[in-house]
Amino acid sequence: MRAEVVEAFGKPLVERELDIPIAGPRQIVVKTEACGVCHTDLHAASGDWPLKPTLPFIPGHEAIGIVSAVGAGVTIVKEGDRVGVPWLYSACGHCEYCLSAWETVCPDAQFGGYTRNGGFAEYILADPDYVAHIPKGLSPTQAAPLICAGLTTYKGIKETDTRPGEWIAVSGCGGLGHLAIQYAKAMGLLVCAVDIDDKKLNLAKSLGADLTFNARSADSITRLIKETGGGTHGVLITAPSLGAFSQGIAMARRRGTCVLVGLPPGDFPVPLFDVVAKCITIRGSFVGTRQDMAEALAFAADGKVKADVELQPLEDINAIFKRLEHGDVAARVVIDYVNNSSDLENKQEAQEVYAH
Ligand code: NAD
Ligand code: ZN
Ligand code: ZN
Repeated sequence: MRAEVVEAFGKPLVERELDIPIAGPRQIVVKTEACGVCHTDLHAASGDWPLKPTLPFIPGHEAIGIVSAVGAGVTIVKEGDRVGVPWLYSACGHCEYCLSAWETVCPDAQFGGYTRNGGFAEYILADPDYVAHIPKGLSPTQAAPLICAGLTTYKGIKETDTRPGEWIAVSGCGGLGHLAIQYAKAMGLLVCAVDIDDKKLNLAKSLGADLTFNARSADSITRLIKETGGGTHGVLITAPSLGAFSQGIAMARRRGTCVLVGLPPGDFPVPLFDVVAKCITIRGSFVGTRQDMAEALAFAADGKVKADVELQPLEDINAIFKRLEHGDVAARVVIDYVNNSSDLENKQEAQEVYAH
């Protein structure tokens, strides 16, 4: 099978011909139909985080495909089912976090495309207990961004504890953010979209954002606070940039909750006085549980959320990474394994809009 492999951090991925994995007991093999390219894949290939994957590895954790083989003892899925192989590749199932439906923070969790090989390959070995079940009516390329970007932002919005009619700020309107805006609107929230790129803000507006702010303009936070009557009740920070974090906290209303989702390497200073005096909650959020996954997919199956996808072939992965690094992806690139050239029009359009 063809696979794009990280053999050294910070270096281009290398295309390799590898053996198709074999399903052992309680394992399945999935034939990949589509895989979204998340900014996390870029962090993974760059070795950005303290916990690094073991080299070599195959990134990709927004993989959708068809179960092509099942090992002994597998009952939850069968050959021919369409599943997603997500970031939460597996968890222990027995610790206090797994038992309380917080399997995302299981200390023994494995991560797809990170500690286990992922979807930048024609076949993936997966744990049937942790794959996403893709509802009928969602195409593989549509479903792909939902199993990380969609799930993470849906869960992140819930973690802000906002209620219908309240304000949420979504900082970073790329792969994650463009879905966050749609989930927030579907959940009855008022949305401020914040980005540093006016093209992203135009997309945000077309997806239903009530107000948009370019974080590069000096008075954006003052205006946001004024126009929302004191700041937003929730803030969801998806930007892969440290500058967005202090800014995001400044957008919060008194007693507001800032949910941190973006994972740029490094730390950011917390404005202690403001956080204490305004009783602001700062909370990390990491993908979502299997129950969150089912809920996040249901929104899309009901037509309330739709990923904006640009289809590309696997062999272009290094060029895609370069564009992602430079903010030159409109929303989400999805690797299309079934029909590489089906979206030429979309591809050309994206290249025109984002050409330097
Ligand atoms: P992306 O590149 O598609 O989108 C990032 C967006 O942020 C772009 O629109 C960019 O213009 C914008 N941006 C950059 N700097 C900004 C700033 N200072 N203020 C406002 N906006 C800014 O990336 P993505 O795939 O959406 O991923 C975003 C981040 O989320 C990454 O760091 C990724 O690793 C992380 N992530 C975390 C989780 C989790 O579970 N916590 C899950 C998935 C991704
Ligand atoms: Zn991701
Ligand atoms: Zn566990």
